[in-house]
Amino acid sequence: MKLLEYEGRELFEKYGIPVKKGRVAETPEEAGKIFEEINKPVVIKAQVPVGGRGKAGGIKLANTREETIQKARDILNLKIKGIPVKKVLVAEAADIDRELYISLTLDRSRNKVLIMAIKEGGVEVEEIAKQRPESIYTDYYDPLRGIAPYQIRNLATWMFEEKEFQKKLFNLIHNMEKLFKECQASLVEINPLAISGNELIAVDSKVILDDNAYYKYKDIIGEKDLSYEDKKELAAKEAGLSYVKLDGFIGCCVNGAGLAMATMDIIKKYGGEPANFLDIGGSSSPEKVKKAMEILLSDKNVKVVFFNIFGGITRCDDVAKGMVEAFKEIKCNLPVVVRLTGTNENEAKEILKELPNLIPVSSMAEGAQKAVELVK
Ligand code: GDP
Ligand code: MN
Repeated sequence: MKLLEYEGRELFEKYGIPVKKGRVAETPEEAGKIFEEINKPVVIKAQVPVGGRGKAGGIKLANTREETIQKARDILNLKIKGIPVKKVLVAEAADIDRELYISLTLDRSRNKVLIMAIKEGGVEVEEIAKQRPESIYTDYYDPLRGIAPYQIRNLATWMFEEKEFQKKLFNLIHNMEKLFKECQASLVEINPLAISGNELIAVDSKVILDDNAYYKYKDIIGEKDLSYEDKKELAAKEAGLSYVKLDGFIGCCVNGAGLAMATMDIIKKYGGEPANFLDIGGSSSPEKVKKAMEILLSDKNVKVVFFNIFGGITRCDDVAKGMVEAFKEIKCNLPVVVRLTGTNENEAKEILKELPNLIPVSSMAEGAQKAVELVK
């Protein structure tokens, strides 16, 4: 789950990471009101879940209420990398003397958290990593042990000569670590971290949290703007399904995460591409199957649907009932390949006689081959 900048900076405030005063607005008038509250020059920033907003005209400074309203209106009319801007952050503008970069990232291959710092900010870290990797400070820590104080001191003395700033950075990293841990983050990035007079200020925020740990941090983050999240993935989550959209053409409906992965693999083996990962889970009710079909069919890429069900706790007849119900309500002009084996398989076959257009197969490999053929 990727937070928008304003959501990330709300977290920063909670964790004592310094930010300038500011608030989010959905209309130019509201932006004007925030200017009045702040009553100092402000920065107006498009709230979209992508970077490079500055270059796209999504970040503007304003000195008066009228100017704020005008510029907020311009930004709210923008599309950045194809994404319409629905909100702007209006915050007190920072006087920036110098920009820095700092981040904590989960490095799964090492089971550690990677600390990265650069003595420049507003930069694309990927670009710097390619061009001048030696200018990036890196260190790792074990998330269970936490960062050792000497690690933060080493970083702080690398970054600054001034004791005052070293101390400020020490506190900042400490707070970032706390946020990272308590909110189950995979990324907390401040780019740029601004030096402004004798202050360090987080001028931007990029925070990614683990979807699966939502229950742990939902009270901390409060209300999340979900309007940029994938609608199908949200609907799936609500219905108790695990769904991940992919780029292929074969819509898969499977029970169990392991079988779902195996199904994707076998489709690839026969030269096809899965359109999704979809696990309807154990003890599937007809409602779940119906919901799954709705989600699959709302993906315009899907050209063939492949049901691959191994009946255990999930009963094949339940899935079959769900399919009959689903096809009563949903118009499906696509070929549907079905492999159902296991618990109550014979009952399921009886039920599916109501749907003569289905293409039954007897094994997973046969089903995958059939589906790949049909796409072609
Ligand atoms: P991004 O381009 O989407 O990553 O947006 P950022 O929030 O990082 O802003 C991009 C650049 O705009 C920064 O590197 C700064 O140079 C500038 N900027 C953003 N906020 C302020 C501000 O409050 N004051 C000043 N002077 N510049 C800002
Ligand atoms: Mn940035």
